[in-house]
This record gives sequence, C-alpha cells and structure tokens, in this order.
Amino acid sequence: MASSSSTADICVVGGGIVGLAVARELRSRHPGAEIVVLQRGERIAAHQSGHSSGVIHAGIYYAPGSLKARLCVEGARRLYEYCDERGVPAKRSGKVIVAAEGGEVPRLDELERRGLANGVPGLKRIGPDELREIEPHAAGVAALHSPNTGVVDFAAVAAALAADFTAAGGRVETGREVRALHAAGGRLSIEHSGGTLDAGKAVLCAGPWADRLAVAAGADPDPRVVPFRGAYLRLRPGRDSLVRSNIYPVPDPDLPFLGMHLTRDAAGEVLLGPTALFVGARDAYHLRRVVPRDLLESLVWPGTRRMMRRFWRTGLVEIRHAVSIRSFVDECRRYVPELRRADVERSSRAGVRAQAIGRDGSLVDDFVISESERAIHVRNAPSPAATSSLALAELIADRVDAL
Ligand SMILES: Cc1cc2nc3c(=O)[nH]c(=O)nc-3n(C[C@H](O)[C@H](O)[C@H](O)COP(=O)(O)OP(=O)(O)OC[C@H]3O[C@@H](n4cnc5c(N)ncnc54)[C@H](O)[C@@H]3O)c2cc1C
Repeated sequence: MASSSSTADICVVGGGIVGLAVARELRSRHPGAEIVVLQRGERIAAHQSGHSSGVIHAGIYYAPGSLKARLCVEGARRLYEYCDERGVPAKRSGKVIVAAEGGEVPRLDELERRGLANGVPGLKRIGPDELREIEPHAAGVAALHSPNTGVVDFAAVAAALAADFTAAGGRVETGREVRALHAAGGRLSIEHSGGTLDAGKAVLCAGPWADRLAVAAGADPDPRVVPFRGAYLRLRPGRDSLVRSNIYPVPDPDLPFLGMHLTRDAAGEVLLGPTALFVGARDAYHLRRVVPRDLLESLVWPGTRRMMRRFWRTGLVEIRHAVSIRSFVDECRRYVPELRRADVERSSRAGVRAQAIGRDGSLVDDFVISESERAIHVRNAPSPAATSSLALAELIADRVDAL
C-alpha cells in the first residue's frame, strides 16, 4: 500500500464497539469536523466486541459510585432504546443469579445491596420456588431476578454505530494499524501502516492493545493488558430446554469475572461459559496461539507474577476447565443439577478478555480512562463496556471536548 499523509480534526483508533460509539457521538456533536476511525485489520468488531457473551447487563455487580455502576445502568437503558430505533434485535430476556448453597447467601445479599444502590430496574430477591417458575431446571437456596437483563448481538450494534457514523460524514479506514503518536505544536502526528495522519486530537480505544498504544503516546505503562481466553460449551439441540434465558452463579468477589453462566443468546443458542484462562496472545481465539511479544510482555510485568501468586488455585481450576468438559459441566451443574456431560458440546466461540493488571498485581476492575497530550486513552474497558458503550461514549466525548 502506498504511504500517504492526511489530516483530521479528531482521530479515533480502534473499530470495536467503544471506538465506534465514541466516533458516532463526536460526529453528532461536531457535524462540521473531520473525524476518522483508524482500524487495524479489515473488519470492525473483530475482537472483544465480536466475541462476547452478548449479554446486556443491568448493572447489578458493580461497586456503587464506580464508573461501571453508573455507565452500565444508563448504558443498558440507552442501548435498548438505540436497538429499538435501529431495528437491531435486543431481547429483555431476564436473568437469575443463583446462590447454590447457604454459604453463598451473604454474597448474594451484597449483590442485592449493590443492585438496589445502583438503581437496577426491577431487581428482586426470590426463593427456590419462584426460581423454578422462572427457570424450571435451576436450583438454589436463594436467587436474584433481574428482568432488565437481556441479549443482543454486539457485532450488529457495532455495525449500526459504524453505519450511523459514516452516514453522517465520518470516515472508517480499515487496514490501518497505528504504531506511534507524537504530540507537537498543538497537533498529533499519528503513524500508521498506511502513512501518517495529522490530527488535532485522538481517542485510543484499542481494547486488548490499549496499553501498547498508550505507551507509544508517552503514557504510563501501568496498567498492562493481560489476555484471558474465554471458551464456551453449548447445549446440544434437544437439550436446550434446560435454560430459558440467563442463569448466573454468585461470582467470586475477588475476581472481576462474573463466573461461568448459561446464556440463551440473541440467536437462541444456549452457551455455557466463558472460562478465564491466562493465554499467550491477545488474539488467542485458538488455544494454541502464542504471540511471543504478547507472552513476554505479560510474563515480565511484575503485576502478572503478583497476580499469579495470589490466584494460582483459580488458575489451576481454569486449566482443568480448559482441558476437561466434565469439570466445566460439573461447575455449571451446581445451579442446573440436571445438566449432564452428554447434554453439551464444544462451541467454536471464544473471546479474549483484555484484563488490565496493575504493577501491584491488582486486577483493575473499573473502567479506566486517562490522558496524554491531546489524546484520551481508554485503558480498561472490560465487561460491561459493550453494554455501557453509548454512555461511555458520552463521557469520553466530554473529555475530548475538554482537551
Ligand atoms: C469472552 C467475553 C465475554 C464478554 N461478555 C460481555 C457481555 O456479555 N456483555 C458486555 O457488556 N460485555 C462483555 N464483554 C466485554 C466486551 O466485549 C468489551 O468490554 C467490549 O467489546 C470492549 O470494546 P472495545 O471497543 O474497547 O474493544 P475491542 O472490541 O477489542 O476493539 C478494539 C479494537 O481496536 C483495534 N486496534 C487495536 N490496536 C490497534 C492499532 N494499533 N491500530 C488500529 N486499531 C487497533 C482492534 O483491531 C479492535 O478492533 C465480554 C468480553 C469477552 C472477551
């Protein structure tokens, strides 16, 4: 490809759901501005946004006052409205979070407290009988029912956002890998695989590669993104009546993951998962994929070693789930007791979570947005960032306007 130079008022790097929502928001605020999305690879939503569980979260889990709490509740509301307007099928199918045994009830109490504090619509505590009415094959000592949780195909949402952006005069350039950013004279020079873009401001929404771009723009290397692969099983046809909508466990409060759940997705398939296995590539859609640079960067990061020392037992369980369908099924059988090994098969679906890990070994939980000269960096946008994307875009656009 011939090298070229071009200009823009604002450049958004990354054509995942967050970058596209930000580009659309900026375009609607600044109709006369030149706004361009640079996307590595030929497809938009090719990474996390196209490989998620597809759940529209209601906002239950997140610490009150956190960005996740605020932007998930608001984001879900706006996402349902947007899907209605744009004709993207989104279904409020509801969800139950099941305490399988008495020891999990205090953690369920805490989820209820958080959900109510966050203003989650319709959240209700239920007992075993009501649980069976909602999900006839689920069992537990207590549960939370969230009628506002739903499912959607986030890749279809991303496509609609991109279409809005381009219809309003924005430009999406694919096959453009951004490699470096230099700020000088009140402008940014953005080097990419097709040449150079001279931009007034930039927003970096690179998901699994967010830390690398932030460092390339002169920002702090802390936190680093470490990839965790999420694999799924699916219920075999004929056994999918075991699950009506979404059945979730009570998650481990020390981890930012929600635990392995059973989800009837927007296409009607019932998925079990995802696992959360430390892997050697930020795009490890196949288990054996290793990118030496990705692996090395994960291993030399002091936070990874600290995190591994703390969570080695969880790591061993995840390895067991990755190699043994039986152990995967045993985990889900805790809240769906009828589930058998013969009811499931491996799904080809897998996603790689970009989990930011601090130098001190902390698994960064909340969304993290930082700044360098003339640029905004989305440093941590894990689940529920797809649900929250429209609300997150508004917050990021405010920060861009204030630069
Ligand atoms: C297994 C799994 C299950 C999940 N389930 C849910 C769920 O049910 N509900 C929910 O709300 N969220 C869920 N999430 C989280 C959700 O998918 C993410 O929070 C969201 O997709 C993040 O979007 P993004 O745009 O930040 O990142 P991405 O979708 O990863 O996009 C980043 C983009 O940046 C591009 N890029 C990277 N580097 C460069 C570069 N140098 N130059 C140009 N472009 C670049 C990439 O090619 C990519 O297109 C899940 C995630 C995973 C992995």
